[in-house]
Amino acid sequence: MRLDSGSGRSLAVAALEYNTAFRPATRSPPMPTDTATPTVSFHHANDIPRVDAGKVPPIIERMKAIVGADGVLTHKAELAVYECDGFTVEKNKPDVVVFPTSTEHVVQIVKACNELDVPFMARGAGTSLAGGCVPVGGGVMIALSRMKKILEVNVRDRYAVVEAGVVNVWLTNQLKPHGYHYAPDPSSQGACTIGGNVATNSGGPHTLKYGVTVNHVIGVEMVLPDGRVVITGGPCEDSPGYDLTGTIVGSEGTFGIVTKTWVRITRNPEAYRTLLGVFGSIDDAVNTISEIVAAGIVPAALELLDQTILGAVEAAFKFGFPLDAAAVLIMEVDGLAAGLQEEADRIEAIAKRNSAREVRKANTESERLALWKARKQAFGTIGRLGYPSYCTQDGVVPRTKLPDIMKHIQATSAKYGIAIANVFHAGDGNIHPILMFDERDPVQVEKVLHASTDILEECIRLGGSVTGEHGIGVEKLDFMPKLFSPDDLAFMVRLRTAFNPSNRCSPNKMLPTAGACVEAGHVHQVKPGRRAAV
Ligand SMILES: Cc1cc2nc3c(=O)[nH]c(=O)nc-3n(C[C@H](O)[C@H](O)[C@H](O)COP(=O)(O)OP(=O)(O)OC[C@H]3O[C@@H](n4cnc5c(N)ncnc54)[C@H](O)[C@@H]3O)c2cc1C
Repeated sequence: MRLDSGSGRSLAVAALEYNTAFRPATRSPPMPTDTATPTVSFHHANDIPRVDAGKVPPIIERMKAIVGADGVLTHKAELAVYECDGFTVEKNKPDVVVFPTSTEHVVQIVKACNELDVPFMARGAGTSLAGGCVPVGGGVMIALSRMKKILEVNVRDRYAVVEAGVVNVWLTNQLKPHGYHYAPDPSSQGACTIGGNVATNSGGPHTLKYGVTVNHVIGVEMVLPDGRVVITGGPCEDSPGYDLTGTIVGSEGTFGIVTKTWVRITRNPEAYRTLLGVFGSIDDAVNTISEIVAAGIVPAALELLDQTILGAVEAAFKFGFPLDAAAVLIMEVDGLAAGLQEEADRIEAIAKRNSAREVRKANTESERLALWKARKQAFGTIGRLGYPSYCTQDGVVPRTKLPDIMKHIQATSAKYGIAIANVFHAGDGNIHPILMFDERDPVQVEKVLHASTDILEECIRLGGSVTGEHGIGVEKLDFMPKLFSPDDLAFMVRLRTAFNPSNRCSPNKMLPTAGACVEAGHVHQVKPGRRAAV
């Protein structure tokens, strides 16, 4: 469905063609569920009202009645924790945060929200980087973090059943004694939940070889926005009918609240070879990546860290990275021991052909784990660089275009005077420029937003897209009409309407049906949340 770059039509055109009647969730009557084209229009951020203040006390009482007083947060200071996720540029407090511990709790919460006509949304660990957790307009935030049981591990049939709030790495830890792991491994895996991974279809360093979340989820239990419970799939590899599981994965919580998931578990590889290529230029590092893949090698991971992030990682952990390198590449192959060394040798030869200064090897499991620790903790070390805030972008380009996009990122950094570090799943062509700033300064916030837009538009121009793995959230609403035609978007709205006819569940996210301002045929970048420093 994606259009070629440049052929996306404007939000204004989309608005006209949708022929329209979207109203903010707190006021809207249910949308039609028949086959008529749903009607949608665009609203200015200020048009999205907060939940009527009179509804807040009764909704709090209902939530306490369902989960108990210790499962509800209402104090302003407590709610501030839930006003944003890792995309701190957009913020808005929910009216109440509620912590269910069972599917039945979620059912009752959702039914109460419908009765009182209050919007609601799911939250896992809040590590999303695209504003997926911003409760635009307020309402009830359903935090799944107390639904954290691993319900079943079935090694013989190679699946596990987990509640939505289970932290990703807990499952792999539990599988260790069996020689198995859960393959999707976002760098946030020590904190993010499997429910959040399902909603965003998370990737990770090892998804180059093993695939993203959708390739590992075989069923979900989800509370629909009207309170009914559906189960799609289950322990078997395939189930008849439409692939609802695949449809729900990546829907960013707009189809309902996922409460339970059946996931595939993966046998640990017999052996690994993990190399660290040290490069004097980013071009040499990214050319190495294209050449490895073109040589028919499927590495388990190819991760790039640039000089800026290496400085932060070194300051925090003292791993012994060469601070004068322009970039390092973590290159890993895994599988059967036989033949693996030859593959690693070929990779080393390719890196050296591309002017790698040095190729280091992880000789022991602890050296290998240290390298991965450096990669996975990299975001956490950014504080060492002296900036109070950062915004992680998430674009994707064809691998061979990585040199172009990296040059563009450097030029954008110079153009706006914004420091940018890079650490990314380079093997997927997935870039993560980290823009560093002070969110208390409106000028810097504006610069970051413009610089981010420049980078993402360049990704589109190079034949890529504006998200490789973090999703659209509220952050990237404006880009959807640049990637999709009005017909594509209208079709997506119809799909959302089939699951979520009232649009009370996670409104104002993912699809540009609200929060955009269309004026005299021009689209203004108006986001639905409150901007930092503004
Ligand atoms: C340091 C760091 C590194 C990261 N590395 C990666 C990476 O390598 N790969 C990657 O893909 N992402 C990465 N991310 C982004 C983020 O961790 C993922 O998007 C993750 O899947 C979010 O999970 P979460 O539990 O924190 O979800 P949240 O942030 O709480 O929510 C994310 C979205 O999912 C929805 N949601 C959450 N739970 C449910 C549910 N049970 N039912 C329905 N909807 C739900 C929310 O409404 C929201 O739209 C990283 C983030 C950080 C901070």
